[in-house]
Amino acid sequence: MKLSIKDIQVNGKEVLMRCDFNVPYNDELQITDDTRIQAALPSIKHLLENGAKLILCSHMGRPAGKPEEKYSLRPVGLRLAELLGTPVAFADDTIGDHATLLRAQLEPGHAVLLENTRFDAKEKANDSDFAKALAGNAEIFVNDAFGTAHRAHASTEGVTHHVSQSAMGFLIESELEFLQDKLRTPAKPFLAIMGGKKVSDKIQVIKAMMDKADEFIIGGAMAYTFLKAQGYKTGMSLVEDDFIPLAKELLETAEQKGIKFHLPADTRITQDFSNDAETRVTKTYADGGEIPDDWEGIDIGDVAIQDFCKVVEGAGTVLWNGPMGVFEMDNFAAGTIALAEAVAKSDALTIVGGGDSVTAANKFCKPSDFSFLSTGGGASLELLEGKELPGVAALSNA
Ligand code: AMP
Repeated sequence: MKLSIKDIQVNGKEVLMRCDFNVPYNDELQITDDTRIQAALPSIKHLLENGAKLILCSHMGRPAGKPEEKYSLRPVGLRLAELLGTPVAFADDTIGDHATLLRAQLEPGHAVLLENTRFDAKEKANDSDFAKALAGNAEIFVNDAFGTAHRAHASTEGVTHHVSQSAMGFLIESELEFLQDKLRTPAKPFLAIMGGKKVSDKIQVIKAMMDKADEFIIGGAMAYTFLKAQGYKTGMSLVEDDFIPLAKELLETAEQKGIKFHLPADTRITQDFSNDAETRVTKTYADGGEIPDDWEGIDIGDVAIQDFCKVVEGAGTVLWNGPMGVFEMDNFAAGTIALAEAVAKSDALTIVGGGDSVTAANKFCKPSDFSFLSTGGGASLELLEGKELPGVAALSNA
């Protein structure tokens, strides 16, 4: 068990906290979605209320290791002050003179936000001098940036070597609780719903889940690689040929272990990737039905929707990662909407594993209808694969 933010004494102490403030901006540098700032508020409020001198840091976007105005965290500082209802000082640099000055002036119960850590190439290189300067006089480090916890950077890993105590914030704590602890002994049957574009991104998760899940639903473009692995025609659908051998292996393992592997019995197809394109539904493997040569699968079909929703109804635990089709386009979204609604309605423990499925869950359902929506993309996948996240592993033990 790692040390929790709940277990540290911060009164009057300098605390450096790594957040994930990597929010989207429009062309006028206005924040278009502040979910990530909101997600950091419980930890920030807790530390301020307990009298910490709080220094906040984060990365933003992918600057080329030098300052770029479009990736400045200044708008985040303003939004944060608005949400907290208290001023938040903003340092024009990360470890430079301005940051040093503001840190020295900091009073207990007040916060300063440092400029983008990635304005220095030493951040991603996990340079120890940069990490030491970032730690400065802070005695305590709190990591609450789950979205970057799978990266060993100076502000996520390096900095832990230059403070006396490192703890996880509330956000990381709940991500670990749901994506790791609760899935160790899931209520049965445990259903893993996998979808999205690339098998290559998620095949390791499927492999790891083979030891835990009782049933799998495979949708999205990923399904076509599994259908092709069984010898069915997939037309122009997105298939990752390099992964066909692994898909075959997983299907065989599932059969040996008695794991139910649900693939879409039918699929919605098109010849044109646009919102007013003609679409049809075709069978994928039953009764000799297959996807015609010059058509592409873009969503699961009506029978698959019915089949999949029934499977969701019977589940004790549901992990959902990846949309059933190209849900960003209205006429290819029916499968994802139906699945999202079925998961939302379920009484099971329902965990949505980050990225596009969370976008879909928020778009088509009430977020509170799910037990947990993960805030991570790559970090969620690595955790589900059973990997240790460097930004968590480096924290002090409880
Ligand atoms: P991922 O990042 O792997 O979770 O993939 C998410 C993306 O997969 C979304 O943007 C969907 O539009 C896309 N997607 C889902 N189904 C299909 C499909 N049948 N063909 C192409 N893209 C798909």
